[in-house]
Amino acid sequence: MSFRKRTVLVVEDEQSISTPLAEALAREGFEATVAPTARAALELAGELDPDVVLLDLMLPDGSGLDVCRELRRTSQVPILMLTARGDEADRVVGLELGADDYVTKPFSAREVAARIRAVLRRADAISAARPDDPAIALGELRLDPARRTATLAGRPLELSRKEFDVLQLLAREAGTVVTRERLLREVWETSWFGSTKTLDVHVASIRRKLGDSADAPRYLHTVRGVGFRLSAPDELEPQA
Ligand code: CA
Repeated sequence: MSFRKRTVLVVEDEQSISTPLAEALAREGFEATVAPTARAALELAGELDPDVVLLDLMLPDGSGLDVCRELRRTSQVPILMLTARGDEADRVVGLELGADDYVTKPFSAREVAARIRAVLRRADAISAARPDDPAIALGELRLDPARRTATLAGRPLELSRKEFDVLQLLAREAGTVVTRERLLREVWETSWFGSTKTLDVHVASIRRKLGDSADAPRYLHTVRGVGFRLSAPDELEPQA
Protein backbone atom coordinates (compact mmCIF):
# COMPACT_ATOMS: atom_id res chain seq x y z
CA MET A 1 0.00 0.00 0.00
CA SER A 2 1.40 3.34 -0.98
CA PHE A 3 0.78 6.57 0.88
CA ARG A 4 1.62 8.90 -1.92
CA LYS A 5 -0.82 11.77 -2.30
CA ARG A 6 -3.47 11.28 -4.94
CA THR A 7 -3.29 13.99 -7.57
CA VAL A 8 -6.34 15.91 -8.75
CA LEU A 9 -6.42 18.04 -11.88
CA VAL A 10 -9.00 20.81 -11.39
CA VAL A 11 -10.13 22.06 -14.82
CA GLU A 12 -12.00 25.28 -14.07
CA ASP A 13 -11.60 28.80 -15.42
CA GLU A 14 -13.34 30.66 -12.61
CA GLN A 15 -10.75 31.44 -10.00
CA SER A 16 -13.45 32.15 -7.42
CA ILE A 17 -14.23 28.42 -7.68
CA SER A 18 -10.87 26.83 -8.48
CA THR A 19 -8.72 28.57 -5.86
CA PRO A 20 -10.78 27.71 -2.77
CA LEU A 21 -11.49 24.25 -4.17
CA ALA A 22 -7.80 23.50 -4.73
CA GLU A 23 -7.00 24.74 -1.22
CA ALA A 24 -9.75 22.65 0.32
CA LEU A 25 -8.61 19.55 -1.59
CA ALA A 26 -5.08 20.12 -0.31
CA ARG A 27 -6.45 20.18 3.23
CA GLU A 28 -8.24 16.89 2.45
CA GLY A 29 -4.88 15.33 1.55
CA PHE A 30 -4.95 15.64 -2.24
CA GLU A 31 -2.40 17.29 -4.44
CA ALA A 32 -4.44 19.67 -6.59
CA THR A 33 -3.36 21.44 -9.77
CA VAL A 34 -5.60 23.94 -11.58
CA ALA A 35 -5.95 24.09 -15.37
CA PRO A 36 -7.92 27.22 -16.43
CA THR A 37 -8.40 26.26 -20.09
CA ALA A 38 -9.15 23.20 -22.21
CA ARG A 39 -5.68 23.40 -23.72
CA ALA A 40 -4.00 23.55 -20.30
CA ALA A 41 -6.18 20.65 -19.16
CA LEU A 42 -4.93 18.35 -21.92
CA GLU A 43 -1.31 19.43 -21.47
CA LEU A 44 -1.36 19.00 -17.70
CA ALA A 45 -3.22 15.70 -17.91
CA GLY A 46 -0.43 14.39 -20.13
CA GLU A 47 2.31 15.76 -17.89
CA LEU A 48 0.93 14.95 -14.46
CA ASP A 49 -0.96 11.72 -15.16
CA PRO A 50 -3.46 12.70 -12.43
CA ASP A 51 -5.48 10.20 -10.40
CA VAL A 52 -8.70 12.17 -10.93
CA VAL A 53 -9.84 14.98 -13.23
CA LEU A 54 -12.48 17.51 -12.10
CA LEU A 55 -13.88 18.96 -15.29
CA ASP A 56 -15.85 22.18 -15.73
CA LEU A 57 -17.84 22.03 -18.98
CA MET A 58 -17.79 25.75 -19.92
CA LEU A 59 -14.18 26.70 -20.59
CA PRO A 60 -12.94 29.88 -22.29
CA ASP A 61 -11.33 28.04 -25.22
CA GLY A 62 -13.77 25.20 -25.67
CA SER A 63 -16.11 22.70 -24.12
CA GLY A 64 -15.18 20.39 -21.27
CA LEU A 65 -16.97 17.70 -23.27
CA ASP A 66 -14.20 17.89 -25.90
CA VAL A 67 -11.61 17.61 -23.12
CA CYS A 68 -13.44 14.54 -21.85
CA ARG A 69 -13.47 12.97 -25.32
CA GLU A 70 -9.75 13.68 -25.81
CA LEU A 71 -8.79 12.27 -22.41
CA ARG A 72 -10.72 9.08 -23.08
CA ARG A 73 -8.73 8.48 -26.25
CA THR A 74 -5.69 7.58 -24.19
CA SER A 75 -6.69 7.35 -20.55
CA GLN A 76 -9.08 5.71 -18.13
CA VAL A 77 -8.51 8.41 -15.49
CA PRO A 78 -11.69 8.96 -13.45
CA ILE A 79 -13.44 12.15 -14.63
CA LEU A 80 -15.86 14.04 -12.41
CA MET A 81 -17.78 16.78 -14.23
CA LEU A 82 -18.52 20.09 -12.52
CA THR A 83 -21.85 21.16 -13.97
CA ALA A 84 -24.37 23.94 -13.57
CA ARG A 85 -27.87 23.08 -12.45
CA GLY A 86 -29.44 23.44 -15.92
CA ASP A 87 -26.80 21.35 -17.72
CA GLU A 88 -28.68 18.07 -17.87
CA ALA A 89 -28.10 17.49 -21.60
CA ASP A 90 -24.37 18.14 -21.20
CA ARG A 91 -24.21 15.80 -18.22
CA VAL A 92 -25.77 13.01 -20.26
CA VAL A 93 -23.36 13.60 -23.15
CA GLY A 94 -20.42 13.72 -20.72
CA LEU A 95 -21.38 10.41 -19.16
CA GLU A 96 -21.76 8.89 -22.63
CA LEU A 97 -18.28 10.17 -23.51
CA GLY A 98 -16.88 8.32 -20.52
CA ALA A 99 -17.06 10.74 -17.59
CA ASP A 100 -17.58 8.82 -14.36
CA ASP A 101 -19.82 11.13 -12.38
CA TYR A 102 -20.80 14.77 -11.89
CA VAL A 103 -21.36 17.29 -9.14
CA THR A 104 -23.72 20.21 -9.54
CA LYS A 105 -22.68 23.77 -8.79
CA PRO A 106 -22.77 25.24 -6.24
CA PHE A 107 -21.03 22.46 -4.33
CA SER A 108 -19.06 22.28 -1.12
CA ALA A 109 -15.43 21.22 -1.24
CA ARG A 110 -16.28 18.49 1.26
CA GLU A 111 -18.90 17.09 -1.12
CA VAL A 112 -16.40 17.13 -4.00
CA ALA A 113 -13.76 15.39 -1.86
CA ALA A 114 -16.27 12.68 -0.95
CA ARG A 115 -17.16 12.14 -4.61
CA ILE A 116 -13.45 12.00 -5.53
CA ARG A 117 -12.89 9.31 -2.93
CA ALA A 118 -15.85 7.38 -4.31
CA VAL A 119 -14.58 7.40 -7.92
CA LEU A 120 -11.07 6.51 -6.70
CA ARG A 121 -12.42 3.53 -4.75
CA ARG A 122 -14.23 2.35 -7.87
CA ALA A 123 -11.15 2.86 -10.07
CA ASP A 124 -8.92 1.08 -7.55
CA ALA A 125 -11.35 -1.85 -7.38
CA ILE A 126 -11.36 -2.16 -11.17
CA SER A 127 -7.58 -2.08 -11.48
CA ALA A 128 -7.23 -4.55 -8.60
CA ALA A 129 -9.55 -6.96 -10.41
CA ARG A 130 -7.15 -7.22 -13.34
CA PRO A 131 -3.86 -5.90 -12.06
CA ASP A 132 -1.64 -7.05 -14.90
CA ASP A 133 -3.78 -6.50 -17.91
CA PRO A 134 -5.29 -3.03 -18.22
CA ALA A 135 -6.44 -2.11 -21.72
CA ILE A 136 -3.90 -0.08 -23.65
CA ALA A 137 -5.05 2.90 -25.71
CA LEU A 138 -2.77 4.71 -28.15
CA GLY A 139 -4.44 7.14 -30.50
CA GLU A 140 -7.13 5.14 -32.27
CA LEU A 141 -5.48 1.85 -31.38
CA ARG A 142 -6.83 -0.18 -28.47
CA LEU A 143 -5.44 -3.41 -27.10
CA ASP A 144 -7.21 -5.59 -24.61
CA PRO A 145 -4.56 -8.00 -23.30
CA ALA A 146 -7.04 -9.96 -21.20
CA ARG A 147 -9.13 -10.82 -24.28
CA ARG A 148 -6.21 -10.66 -26.69
CA THR A 149 -8.15 -8.39 -29.01
CA ALA A 150 -7.18 -5.17 -30.73
CA THR A 151 -9.18 -2.49 -32.53
CA LEU A 152 -8.25 0.47 -34.71
CA ALA A 153 -10.80 3.30 -34.73
CA GLY A 154 -13.29 0.81 -33.32
CA ARG A 155 -12.74 -1.80 -36.04
CA PRO A 156 -11.33 -5.16 -34.96
CA LEU A 157 -7.79 -5.92 -36.13
CA GLU A 158 -7.29 -9.48 -37.31
CA LEU A 159 -3.92 -10.24 -35.79
CA SER A 160 -2.20 -13.57 -35.57
CA ARG A 161 -1.11 -14.73 -32.15
CA LYS A 162 2.49 -13.64 -32.66
CA GLU A 163 1.44 -10.36 -34.24
CA PHE A 164 -0.66 -9.60 -31.20
CA ASP A 165 2.27 -10.42 -28.92
CA VAL A 166 4.63 -8.15 -30.85
CA LEU A 167 2.12 -5.29 -30.86
CA GLN A 168 1.38 -5.76 -27.17
CA LEU A 169 5.04 -5.61 -26.18
CA LEU A 170 5.57 -2.49 -28.29
CA ALA A 171 2.39 -0.92 -26.87
CA ARG A 172 3.45 -1.53 -23.27
CA GLU A 173 6.66 0.34 -24.05
CA ALA A 174 5.05 2.95 -26.35
CA GLY A 175 7.38 5.85 -27.03
CA THR A 176 10.54 3.86 -26.40
CA VAL A 177 12.50 1.54 -28.63
CA VAL A 178 12.17 -2.19 -28.11
CA THR A 179 15.19 -4.04 -29.44
CA ARG A 180 14.90 -6.82 -31.99
CA GLU A 181 16.63 -9.13 -29.52
CA ARG A 182 14.07 -8.46 -26.85
CA LEU A 183 11.14 -8.98 -29.22
CA LEU A 184 12.58 -12.28 -30.38
CA ARG A 185 13.32 -13.39 -26.85
CA GLU A 186 9.95 -12.43 -25.37
CA VAL A 187 7.61 -13.20 -28.25
CA TRP A 188 9.37 -16.24 -29.70
CA GLU A 189 10.88 -17.29 -26.37
CA THR A 190 14.14 -18.20 -27.90
CA SER A 191 17.55 -16.75 -28.30
CA TRP A 192 17.87 -16.24 -31.96
CA PHE A 193 20.88 -17.42 -33.88
CA GLY A 194 19.55 -17.32 -37.39
CA SER A 195 17.85 -14.75 -39.54
CA THR A 196 15.49 -12.23 -37.98
CA LYS A 197 13.39 -12.21 -41.11
CA THR A 198 10.45 -13.70 -39.21
CA LEU A 199 10.26 -10.59 -37.07
CA ASP A 200 10.38 -8.33 -40.12
CA VAL A 201 7.59 -10.27 -41.76
CA HIS A 202 5.43 -9.90 -38.67
CA VAL A 203 6.16 -6.20 -38.35
CA ALA A 204 5.34 -5.63 -42.03
CA SER A 205 2.04 -7.44 -41.57
CA ILE A 206 1.13 -5.47 -38.43
CA ARG A 207 2.00 -2.27 -40.24
CA ARG A 208 -0.26 -3.18 -43.15
CA LYS A 209 -3.13 -3.93 -40.77
CA LEU A 210 -2.59 -0.61 -39.00
CA GLY A 211 -2.69 1.17 -42.36
CA ASP A 212 0.83 2.45 -41.69
CA SER A 213 3.45 3.06 -44.36
CA ALA A 214 7.06 2.09 -43.66
CA ASP A 215 8.28 5.48 -44.91
CA ALA A 216 6.03 7.72 -42.83
CA PRO A 217 4.47 5.52 -40.15
CA ARG A 218 1.92 6.92 -37.77
CA TYR A 219 2.20 4.08 -35.25
CA LEU A 220 5.02 1.65 -35.89
CA HIS A 221 8.48 3.10 -36.41
CA THR A 222 11.59 1.20 -37.44
CA VAL A 223 14.69 2.26 -35.54
CA ARG A 224 17.33 1.09 -37.94
CA GLY A 225 19.81 -1.39 -36.54
CA VAL A 226 18.11 -1.40 -33.13
CA GLY A 227 14.48 -2.39 -33.20
CA PHE A 228 11.01 -0.91 -33.30
CA ARG A 229 9.04 1.75 -31.52
CA LEU A 230 5.32 2.40 -31.23
CA SER A 231 4.28 6.07 -31.07
CA ALA A 232 3.67 7.51 -27.61
CA PRO A 233 0.11 8.73 -26.90
CA ASP A 234 1.09 12.41 -27.31
CA GLU A 235 2.53 11.74 -30.77
CA LEU A 236 -0.87 10.43 -31.81
CA GLU A 237 -2.89 13.50 -30.86
CA PRO A 238 -4.72 14.98 -33.84
CA GLN A 239 -2.82 17.73 -35.58
CA ALA A 240 -4.26 21.15 -34.72
CA1 CA B 1 -16.50 27.78 -16.56
